[in-house]
Amino acid sequence: MSNSNATASEPSFRESVDIMFNRAVALMDLPPGLEEKIRVCNATYTVRFGVRLRGKIETFTGYRSVHSEHMEPVKGGIRFSLGVNQNEVEALAALMSYKCALVETPFGGSKGGLCIDPREWDEDEMERITRRFAYELIKRDLINPSQNVPAPDMGTGEREMAWMADQYKRMNTTDINGAACVTGKPINAGGIQGRVEATGRGVQYALHEFFRHPEDMKAAGLKGTLDGKRVIVQGLGNVGYHAAKFLSEEDGSLITGIIERDGALVDDGGVDVEAVHKWISKHGGVKGFPGATYVENGAEILEKDCDILIPAALEGVINMSNAANVKAPLIIEAANGPVTAGADEVLREKGCVIIPDMYANAGGVTVSYFEWVKNLSHIRFGRMQRRQEEARHELIVGELQRLSEHLGDQWSMTPNFKQKYLRGAGELELVRSGLDDTMRTAYQAMREVWHSRDDVHDLRTAAYLVSIGRVASSYKAKGL
Ligand code: GLU
Repeated sequence: MSNSNATASEPSFRESVDIMFNRAVALMDLPPGLEEKIRVCNATYTVRFGVRLRGKIETFTGYRSVHSEHMEPVKGGIRFSLGVNQNEVEALAALMSYKCALVETPFGGSKGGLCIDPREWDEDEMERITRRFAYELIKRDLINPSQNVPAPDMGTGEREMAWMADQYKRMNTTDINGAACVTGKPINAGGIQGRVEATGRGVQYALHEFFRHPEDMKAAGLKGTLDGKRVIVQGLGNVGYHAAKFLSEEDGSLITGIIERDGALVDDGGVDVEAVHKWISKHGGVKGFPGATYVENGAEILEKDCDILIPAALEGVINMSNAANVKAPLIIEAANGPVTAGADEVLREKGCVIIPDMYANAGGVTVSYFEWVKNLSHIRFGRMQRRQEEARHELIVGELQRLSEHLGDQWSMTPNFKQKYLRGAGELELVRSGLDDTMRTAYQAMREVWHSRDDVHDLRTAAYLVSIGRVASSYKAKGL
C-alpha cells in the first residue's frame, strides 16, 4: 500500500519528518545554527553496480545515508524495496538519529536501501546481489563495526545480514570484531536471542507502559487493560505479526482487522493471527483465508471502529485523504512514518493519541544494540552468572522449604514458585528485560515532557524534544 491516494498538498515523507522536527525545535532554545546542523543529513552515498544474472548484466541502485554522527557508529537498517529512493532513505536515517537518542542506544542515525523487488530473484541470485551491494558499502566503511552498523528493515532479514557479515569478514580477515559489523544476524552467525521478535515485542511493551498511566489512557478515552481491546493491524510482516501475536496470545486483545497488500480480513471476535500468518506464507496474501471476512479494499479498514490501530508497514498510509475518517482513539506507529504531517495535525485535533514511530518501533534497534555489545564482548549474555544465580536461589529455596516444613502445611510455598524462582536468566530473558526497561524509561521521558509543558500537546512533539535535546547536548559537549 502506498500514499498514492494522498492529496496534492500532502508533504513527502521527508518533508513530513522535517515539519515535525521544526514544530519541536520552535519550542526549544538551541544555539543559533545548531538546529540546522541536526536536521540535515550529513551524507548520502549512492551506488550503481552490475551483477551478471540470467545471461545479462543487471544494474542496481543502492543508498546508504548517514544523518548524524554525534555518536559513532551510526546505526540503521537496510531496506530492499522497489520504492527505495534517496529522499526516503534520508528521512529514515533522520528518524534513526532521533530514535537512538530517545531510547539511549549510543549511536548516530543511518539508513540504507536497495531498489529491488526481492521476490523477483531466487536465493542464489539474492545472495550475489546482496554480497555485491555489501562489498560496495564495506569498501567505503559504510558497513563497519566501529563506524556504520546496518540491520534488517523492510525486505531484509537474518539471511541478508548473515551474507553481509560474511562478506565483511572475507574483506577484513583479521578484524576480531567483524561480527559486530551488522546486527540482526542468525544466532549461529553471531546473532542474539529475541532480535527477530524485538520490534513487535517493543510495540507490546510500549502499550503495556501506556496502559500503566491512567492519565494517558484518559487522553485517548480508553479504560481498563489490553484484555478485550479491539486492535487493527496494517501489515503482517515481521513487526506487525509479532505485535499482533503477542497482544492476542499474551494480553487477550482481539485482532479485529488485519490489512495486507491484497486486501483485509475482519472479524469482531478476533482473527487467528498465527493461522493468517501461515496462510500468507503459503498463498502470498490474505485472500481466501477461511476463518474471517475478506474485504478487497484493505485501506478502508484503517477507518474501521477499533480501540488501537497499529500501522506496521509503509510510510504515509494515514494521510490527508483518510485521516479525518480514522476512528481509532489510539494509534501506535510500528512502521516508520505511517502518519503524514498533515494527517498528524488532523488526528491531533480530533483528540487521537499517537504513540510515535521513533519510540514505538525502537525495540529493533534496542536489541540490535545488545547484539552489537554481545559481539564486541565475545560472550553470550548470562553465561557467567546464570548457574551462580541458580545456586544462590537454591540456598534460599532450601531455607524456605526447611521453614515451611517446620511451620506446617499452610506455610508451604505456592505451586511453581520453586521452579520459577530457581531458573537463572538466560540470554532471551535478559534481552527481554533490557528491552522492557528501555521501553518503560523512554516512555516516561516522553510523557514527562508531554504533561509538564503547557506548549506540548502530543507525544510526538515530546519525543522530538527529548531526542533533539540529547543530540544537541552531545554536539555541545563535543564543542561543535
Ligand atoms: N530497521 C530497524 C529500524 O528502523 C532496525 C534498525 C537497527 O536495528 O539498527 O529501527
